Amino acid sequence: MKALVAVKRVVDYNVKVRVKSDGTGVDIANVNMSMNPFDEIAVEEAVRLKEGGKVTEIVAVSAGVTQCQETLRTAMAIGADRGILVDTTEELQPLAVAKLLKALADKEQPQLIILGKQAIDDDSNQTGQMLAALLGWGQATYASKVVIEDGKATVTREVDGGLETVALPLPAIVTTDLRLNEPRYVTLPNIMKAKKKPLETVKPADLGVDVTPRLKTLKVSEPPKRSAGIMVKDVAELVSKLKNEAKVI
Ligand code: AMP
Repeated sequence: MKALVAVKRVVDYNVKVRVKSDGTGVDIANVNMSMNPFDEIAVEEAVRLKEGGKVTEIVAVSAGVTQCQETLRTAMAIGADRGILVDTTEELQPLAVAKLLKALADKEQPQLIILGKQAIDDDSNQTGQMLAALLGWGQATYASKVVIEDGKATVTREVDGGLETVALPLPAIVTTDLRLNEPRYVTLPNIMKAKKKPLETVKPADLGVDVTPRLKTLKVSEPPKRSAGIMVKDVAELVSKLKNEAKVI
């Protein structure tokens, strides 16, 4: 069976982001970009399912600017078989991405679509859910274990205070949580092999999707600066301040 994996190019998680001086967004000029960490987990899971004989082909999809090709090459170096870039310079919001993935799912007919639970840049946590609704498929979000057997997926989900296990018929959507797996290191030979794998480019219009943003960002601001601490002379003063000033005990 075929698996589709969505991989987003985001600001690298090690970068300390700066808000643009006019408050319209985050400055991404000259900033290191990489694959959204939850999407690396998604690709790794698809590759493990392929190694386990459950998946026969892995197609990685990324939507965005031309440089998303690098993200797709990384996915292919981890083990995806081919890549599809939906090439656009438009700002893409989750609904638009979900519609693009729906159009590609109609074309590619995968039995499984794996996405990250959220993109670390916009923290939306919406795309997988919207895609499941558009396709009318079952979805298991926040997956920490995925088993494919007898035409169904059995997925253990991380929920508040524990784990929940659900079964869903294929085709299905799975979104990955942090503990699903630890992605492998990408080796140089695999980076070289990935350069030769097929990478197709399409435009949103080729898929019949209008990606016009539906939301307008009004303002982005830095978190408030932490104020300086104070020294107390003894435990009694600390307890008194916690009780009477901070009112936390
Ligand atoms: P979000 O709903 O934006 O938090 O993103 C959730 C997941 O949807 C990500 O982890 C990706 O798997 C997928 N996704 C979101 N945006 C894109 C994009 N532009 N290209 C490919 N996949 C995306």
